[in-house]
Amino acid sequence: MEKLIIAGPCGAESKRQLIDTCVALAATGRVHMLRAGVWKPRTHPGSWEGVGSRGLAWLAEARQLAGLPVAVEVASARHVESALRHGIDALWIGARTTVSPFAVQEIAEAAAAMVVAQEKNPHSTLHCGRRSDHQIACGAPPADGIPHLLIKNPVNPDVELWSGAVERFLNAGFAPEQIALVHRGFSCGGRDAYRNAPMWHLVFEMRTRHPELRMLCDPSHIGGARQFVPEIAQTAADLCYDGLMIESHITPECALSDAAQQLTPAALDELLGRLKWRSSCAGDPEFIRALERLRGEIDQIDTEIFELLGRRMAISEQIGRQKRDNDVTILQGDRWRDIVTRITARAEVLGLSPEFIKTILNAIHTESIARQV
Ligand code: PEP
Ligand code: MN
Repeated sequence: MEKLIIAGPCGAESKRQLIDTCVALAATGRVHMLRAGVWKPRTHPGSWEGVGSRGLAWLAEARQLAGLPVAVEVASARHVESALRHGIDALWIGARTTVSPFAVQEIAEAAAAMVVAQEKNPHSTLHCGRRSDHQIACGAPPADGIPHLLIKNPVNPDVELWSGAVERFLNAGFAPEQIALVHRGFSCGGRDAYRNAPMWHLVFEMRTRHPELRMLCDPSHIGGARQFVPEIAQTAADLCYDGLMIESHITPECALSDAAQQLTPAALDELLGRLKWRSSCAGDPEFIRALERLRGEIDQIDTEIFELLGRRMAISEQIGRQKRDNDVTILQGDRWRDIVTRITARAEVLGLSPEFIKTILNAIHTESIARQV
C-alpha cells in the first residue's frame, strides 16, 4: 500500500502563508494531502486561536492551486458543517477533542450526515471526486484512496478513549477505509526531551484492535522541535506505519503556533527523500510485512522495558541514600516478599508464568541491592 503523506502548516495564518506553503509542498511531488488548522484548540486562553471560518475559503483556494485534497481540524458540529460546505476533503479530530465522548458523538453525527451522503452521490461537489492533472503527475493516490476522517490519539494515554472515538464514527456510518488514525503522542508531565511521549506500545494495541484502519504518525507533535522530526518519522517507517502527518510552514520561525516544530517545504522534501520505509524484497510480501511489523514492535518494547528498568534503578539509589541517612538496613525482607506476592498474583492476567516472573524479579532485586550498597 502506498504511504500516505499529509503536510501543511499548524495553522492557516494568512492567505499568502497558506497558499505559498501548499503550492511549495505540492511541488515536492511527495505529498498527497494538505493540512491546516483554522480553529486552534489552545491549552491557555489568549494564545492564537486560529483565523476561524474565513480560513476555509483560503484552504479551498489552496486546494485548487496545489491540486491536492485538504484537511482541517474540527471540534464541533458547526465546524464540520462549515468545513464541508467549503469543499474540505478530510476532517481531523484533534487530541483535545478525542478525549470528549460528547464532542466526538456530535461530530460523528454531523460528519456522517454530510460525508456519507456525499459518498453516495457521484455528482457531489463537496469532495474531491476527480484527480487533477497535477495530482496525477505527483503520483497522488486517487481521491477514494484518501481517508475523509483522521482521528488523533487523545492527549492522555488511554486506548479506550481512542478506540471509543473510532467506534462512534463506525457506528455513525463511516467505512473503515474512510478513517485513518493519527499517533501524535501522549502528555505525560514532560519528563522526556520530546513534547509528547510516543508510548509506541499503545499504538500497537490500537492496531491490534483496529487492523482495518490506516495508522499515520505525526512526528511534529510528538517531537515538538524540528530536530526530532526525522528520527521519529524513521521510527514510524520502521514500524510499518501507513503514512505521516507533518507540519510544514513557508517561514517556520514566524509561525503563530508550533513554530519550533514546523519544517520548511524544502526541509520536508529532504526528510521524505531520506526516509527509508522498510521494504519487502523476498518471499511472501504479506508475511514479510507482518514479520517486520512484529519485530519493530518487539524492538520498541525492549527499548521501553530497559528505559523503565533504568528509571527503577535510579529510584532504588535514592531509597538507598535515604536508608543510609536513617541507619536502616538495605535488605527489607517483608517489603520484598510483598512485591513478589503482588506481582506473581497477577501472573495469569499478565500471561506470564510465576517462575518467569520470579526469575526476572530476582535479577531486578540483585541489581537494586547492588545499587544501594
Ligand atoms: C494540530 O495538528 O495542529 C494539533 C492541534 O494537533 P493535536 O491535536 O495533535 O495537538
Ligand atoms: Mn500544531
